Amino acid sequence: MGDRVYNFSAGPSMLPIEVLKSTASSMLDYEGSGMSVMEMSHRSKPYEKIIKDAETNLRKLMDIPDDYDVLFLQGGATLQFSAIPLNLLTSGGKADYLVTGSWADKAYKEATKFGDIKVIASSKDANYTYIPKVSKEDIRPDADYVHVTNNNTIYGTRIPYVPDTGDIPLVSDFSSSILSEKIDVSKYGLIYAGAQKNIGPAGMTIVIIKKELVGKAPASVPTYLDYKIHADNGSMYNTPPAWCIYVAGEVFKLLLAKGGVEAMEKLNREKAAKLYDYIDGSSLYTAVAREEDRSLMNVVFITGNEELDKTFVAEAKEEGLVQLNGHRSIGGMRASIYNAMPMEGVDKLLDFMKRFEEKYD
Ligand SMILES: *Cc1c(COP(=O)(O)O)cnc(C)c1O
Repeated sequence: MGDRVYNFSAGPSMLPIEVLKSTASSMLDYEGSGMSVMEMSHRSKPYEKIIKDAETNLRKLMDIPDDYDVLFLQGGATLQFSAIPLNLLTSGGKADYLVTGSWADKAYKEATKFGDIKVIASSKDANYTYIPKVSKEDIRPDADYVHVTNNNTIYGTRIPYVPDTGDIPLVSDFSSSILSEKIDVSKYGLIYAGAQKNIGPAGMTIVIIKKELVGKAPASVPTYLDYKIHADNGSMYNTPPAWCIYVAGEVFKLLLAKGGVEAMEKLNREKAAKLYDYIDGSSLYTAVAREEDRSLMNVVFITGNEELDKTFVAEAKEEGLVQLNGHRSIGGMRASIYNAMPMEGVDKLLDFMKRFEEKYD
C-alpha cells in the first residue's frame, strides 16, 4: 500500500484501494471518451450507463424490491432531516422519533419545524450508550412515520432489532451502516444514507423510498426537496452528484465481486469481534456502548484517563493508524471500521493496542 495509512476516521473514510486505483486510472480518459467522468455531461451516453449501472448494482446488493425508488441526491443526510418531514408529514402532521444520539437528535429537532413531533424514547440520560427498547404501544397510532437512526456513529451503538411499527412507515438513517450487513428493505418505508462513510466520496445521499410514499408532498415544498421530482427524473432533474455516483458505482461493483453484503457482514462481524473481545479482556481499555447494542462500524473505547487517551491517539498516528480520536463531543477513542477497512488494518490496530497496554497499564 506504499505510504498509505490505515484511516479509522468516522467519515469521510477509507475507500477500497481497488476503487481508488480504477477511478484514478480513468481520470484523464474514461473508457475512450477522452475525458474524466468529472468533466462529462450527465446527459451523455456513457454517463447514462454509469448512473443506471450504479442503481442496478445497489438494487442487487441490497435486494431492493421493485416497489421502491432509489434516488441519488445532494445535501447530505442532513438535508434529509428536512426532506423527510416535508414529504411524509401528510395526513395528521405527526411523527415519532427514537433519539439515540446527536444525529438522531438533529433529525428530531429539524422535524419539529414542520409538525407535531414526539420523542418516543431517548438514551440521552446515559449519554447515548444504549438503545432504548420501543414497541408498537409507544408509537402514536396516527403518526405519519417513525424515525430511527440505525447506527449511531458518534457513540458506537446500533439498533439490534427492526422496530415493529405496524402499518406506520419506518424511516431509518443508515449513513454509517448502509451495506455493512444484510437488511430487509421491505421492513422500511424510507432508508437514507450519506455516501461518505460506507460508500464513496462526500456529496451524495442515497434515498431508498417505497413508491407509495412518493408524491405526497404539499405544493409548498421546495422543488428540490420533493422526492417525486427526483423519482420521475431518475435522479437527473438537475445535475446529479455525477462523480460521486460514479465512484459509488465502482464500490458497488467491487462489493458484488467480493460476495455482496453477506460477505461484507461476515468480515465486519469478525473485525468488530476481534476488537471488542480484546477490549473486554483488557484491564486498560473499556468499550463504552452497552454490549448488546454495540456498533459493527464504530468501536468506541476509553482508557479512563483523558491524557492517556490523547497519548494513545498520538502514538497510533506515528504508526500510520490515524483518526482514532473519539468525536469531539465525547473524547476517548473511536475506531471506525467500515467495509473498506481491511482486516490487516484491524490486526495492526490490535497489535498497537496490546503494546500500548503493556507499556502504560
Ligand atoms: C455523518 C452522519 C450524518 C450527517 O451526514 P451529512 O452527510 O454530513 O449530512 C447523519 N447521520 C448519521 C448517522 C451520520 O453518521
